[in-house]
Amino acid sequence: MSNPHKNSIKQLNKVAKLLEPSYKDKKRFKAAIKMLQTPQNFFETELEVRMDNGKTNKFKAYRSQHNNARGPFKGGIRFHQNVSADEVKALSTWMTWKCAVTGIPYGGGKGGVIVNPRELSEGELQRLSRAYAAFLSDKIGPWVDIPAPDVNTNGQIMAWMVDELENTVSLDRRASENLAATFTGKPIMIGGSQGRDEATGLGGVFILEKLAKELGYDRKRDITIAIQGFGNVGYWFAHHADQLGYKVVAVSGSKGGIYVEDGLDPEQTMECKKKKGGLETCLCVDGKCNVSNGKSITNEELLELDVDILVPSALENVINKDNAGKIKAKAIIEMANGPITPEADEILKKNKVLVIPDVLANAGGVTVSYFEWAQNLQGYYWTRDEVVAKLQPLMDKAFDSMWEMLKKHKTTGRMATYMNAVKSVIDAMMLRGRV
Ligand code: GLU
Repeated sequence: MSNPHKNSIKQLNKVAKLLEPSYKDKKRFKAAIKMLQTPQNFFETELEVRMDNGKTNKFKAYRSQHNNARGPFKGGIRFHQNVSADEVKALSTWMTWKCAVTGIPYGGGKGGVIVNPRELSEGELQRLSRAYAAFLSDKIGPWVDIPAPDVNTNGQIMAWMVDELENTVSLDRRASENLAATFTGKPIMIGGSQGRDEATGLGGVFILEKLAKELGYDRKRDITIAIQGFGNVGYWFAHHADQLGYKVVAVSGSKGGIYVEDGLDPEQTMECKKKKGGLETCLCVDGKCNVSNGKSITNEELLELDVDILVPSALENVINKDNAGKIKAKAIIEMANGPITPEADEILKKNKVLVIPDVLANAGGVTVSYFEWAQNLQGYYWTRDEVVAKLQPLMDKAFDSMWEMLKKHKTTGRMATYMNAVKSVIDAMMLRGRV
């Protein structure tokens, strides 16, 4: 299995080679790159959680604070059985780049707990979430580190965590800090932002619009899209792409997916998935689900479909050296974090498959998290339209900066994005005199 932290270091070292010529002081530049290879702070513990049967279970938990030269650490919390220290470190590194990509004033962080939340009751999930928030209580705050949802966490979990933080910290902190601004991705009722739920998917579709223009497609309906993953990110990407007229022909869940040649109906597919607990028989077109509309496929088959755009929206390493050569899509929009390994990147580059990297494509989520935080701190709330109107120009600008670099240096989408992002982090570190 590919180690995500090693992969994130490989990516950084690769971009360092491209950036080095533009820095006069090589010693300071090298010191900065070295610093960026490891998180500034890394915390781990074992959370003790009382289970419904009266016994206490232990769950390994982490928080990685990668870099805060551009602002407080920022990044989600993942609940998954495959979480590891190295995965959390990699994800926090990617958050540092991601925040720099759209220019929001944060550094990178990430947290995770080794748990399969589907095996927990609602009460157990709440006690686990509270235990995690209590563990982090002296390490996070609106000006220090601001967690959010990630894989298998959501607004409800953020709400429990805010409540626990408020109950845990001193009266001094409660009086002086707006503690609710410590978490983003909260439900609207307790200070969440309009548009946060759909923000990652919608941001990705803004990138799709820019990409379609650059690739010179005339009709959106001619652009076929396959989406691996149909959770929050994959669903909203499908929804907005469909609304704008693109043809979403395939989506998949952890157990497998569906292929509908005429283009599937994302809403009905989601309704059906909720009802049936799986996607396999949810072949829905224009509001009607019928098995004769298409066929069920495996996750592997989905990745290798002959489509224009492939959108991995689930977990890391799904496109690796074993299947990268079989990808037929013209472009990949990485909506998951780290779905392509560095070895696969090389193969895709050779085969001229354009990759729009995660830190650009899925930056819409953390960008609206920033809007949520800003709204919390000013105590004044925006409409969904205002949120969307503020998100689009930031995504567009980030795409344009990437495209300019890509043309100028004849490099990949990932390297072009990283050149801009890593440079702004290093410049901030130098301005602060950290190196
Ligand atoms: N977990 C999301 C990500 O990987 C959102 C992070 C945030 O909003 O802080 O970008």
